Amino acid sequence: MQLTYLGTAAAEGLPAVFCNCPVCRQAARLGGRNIRTRSQSLVNRDLLIDLPPDTYLHKLQNGLDLSAVKYLFVTHWHMDHFYPQELTVRGSYYSHGMVSPELEIYCAAETRAQFEKVSWEANPETLSALHFHILRAFQPVRAGEYTVTPLPANHMHELESNGKPHPYFYLIEAEGRRLLYAHDTGLFLPEVWDFLKERGPIHLVSLDGTSGLRECGPKAGHMGLPDNIRVREKLLEMGVCDGDTKFILNHFSHNGGMVYDEYAPLAAEKGFAVSYDGMAVEV
Ligand SMILES: [Zn+2]
Ligand SMILES: [Zn+2]
Ligand SMILES: [Zn+2]
Repeated sequence: MQLTYLGTAAAEGLPAVFCNCPVCRQAARLGGRNIRTRSQSLVNRDLLIDLPPDTYLHKLQNGLDLSAVKYLFVTHWHMDHFYPQELTVRGSYYSHGMVSPELEIYCAAETRAQFEKVSWEANPETLSALHFHILRAFQPVRAGEYTVTPLPANHMHELESNGKPHPYFYLIEAEGRRLLYAHDTGLFLPEVWDFLKERGPIHLVSLDGTSGLRECGPKAGHMGLPDNIRVREKLLEMGVCDGDTKFILNHFSHNGGMVYDEYAPLAAEKGFAVSYDGMAVEV
């Protein structure tokens, strides 16, 4: 499998849309890997993770044929992961010569509900090619050659208190390889650890790096480097990961306090690579 990070920022982007903080100004001045757009990744050429408002930019920057995407997995319905209006210009007279006219969309019921709010903008032909599949935590789905298991994320705690399900992150398996794509989530929930015990070896672990060097602890919806270190150590201790597993940090915010150029060497000392927009890596 190949994983390509198309966008690697949290919701506001980096530099952030309306911000003039020192981190945003530094990112803008340095350019290159310090510039981050909203979260999205592509597995091979046919499985897309998330649909942020920067999807069109990602197509332009990477020369992608997004009509070849057959499977869209949405982690959750925060704006940086799901901009549902984009789907209203898919198919019909908006997109000709598509490689895969049909799109299978895997998500939580709440994510689909966000699309329903804007679906009045789509014509019937567009709607008929979008096939939603509502996921359940720990219940794997088969999408072509991929087996994908949604895992409950430690994120959006307001839902829990309302008795609603968690957002998801994903274990993606294909060609005998395993990718754990863990954004947006804080430290994993106990039931996720129980599940992961049986799921080694995992060849690539992509972890939430939103908070930079700051420790978030179990009550937060994101992670910082001290949390990332705890997760990595536990995965190694459990024998689910080993010395060949790639650990990558992703999903960054100006509130993490650092741009790529500063953060990458610090993370490397602890065994992590740091994602950047356009980074492609073999799983
Ligand atoms: Zn996010
Ligand atoms: Zn800023
Ligand atoms: Zn989120």
